[in-house]
Amino acid sequence: MPAALLNPVLDLVTLRSTVTLAEPITARMRRLRVESEQLAGLDVRPGQQVRVLVSGLTLRTYSLWRYDPSGAVELCVLDHSEGGPGAVWGRSVQVGEQVRLRRPEGTFTLRADAAHHVFVGEETASVAFGAMLEALPDQARITGCVETESAADRLPLRHADRLDWLTRGGGSLPDEIRKLAPEPGGIAYVAGEARTVQSVRQVLVRELGWDRRSVLTKPFWAPGKRGLE
Ligand SMILES: Cc1cc2nc3c(=O)[nH]c(=O)nc-3n(C[C@H](O)[C@H](O)[C@H](O)COP(=O)(O)OP(=O)(O)OC[C@H]3O[C@@H](n4cnc5c(N)ncnc54)[C@H](O)[C@@H]3O)c2cc1C
Repeated sequence: MPAALLNPVLDLVTLRSTVTLAEPITARMRRLRVESEQLAGLDVRPGQQVRVLVSGLTLRTYSLWRYDPSGAVELCVLDHSEGGPGAVWGRSVQVGEQVRLRRPEGTFTLRADAAHHVFVGEETASVAFGAMLEALPDQARITGCVETESAADRLPLRHADRLDWLTRGGGSLPDEIRKLAPEPGGIAYVAGEARTVQSVRQVLVRELGWDRRSVLTKPFWAPGKRGLE
């Protein structure tokens, strides 16, 4: 479809924004700040995500690392080794470029009044965890485990010292959660690679006695699948 016809249609379903900051935040992640008047005053909950038009009409999903109600969102995009359209966009987009994104959405969000909070996932999941942890007060009970390729891939998370950090190859998330054995009664947030998410959920529910409704899961990607959501 010619741009003259396509752009008005896209204007109806996306928010037109500008990249105002693009810088490394970990060894393989870039922090991207995207601004627009249309992003001001939205109802955003910690843990929510946006869908971004990364190339032509290709959409990829990214959690909100930060939301500024004056009209900005920040994303952290992993440059994973398979280099799909999302990874390529995240690695190459420059300050001043236009980007179209959908409104923030999703139910993988902080349950602020939970008795305790358990976070389990890898690099991509830690972006959503970052927003959730930022919203938790110092007195909140927090545990969990985050797996990264190396120590240089760890995002600067609030309350990071209360989490266990696993380096890939040095164990597995299901085993770490088995060892950590968090007591039922709180909320667990489990995200990242799809099969690992399922395994961690099984440990919590079948082995540790968690109510399945207290285990929030969100598969973010799966080997061999493109643009999971
Ligand atoms: C709700 C939600 C929130 C997300 N938040 C973030 C976020 O904040 N930051 C972020 O970087 N990603 C996030 N993701 C994941 C991100 O959307 C996918 O990683 C993205 O679709 C990859 O896009 P791509 O075009 O690079 O690769 P695709 O074309 O989608 O996939 C190509 C291949 O790359 C491999 N692959 C995909 N993702 C990864 C990965 N993470 N690690 C290793 N191999 C991979 C798979 O084998 C896949 O078959 C989120 C996903 C969801 C559903």
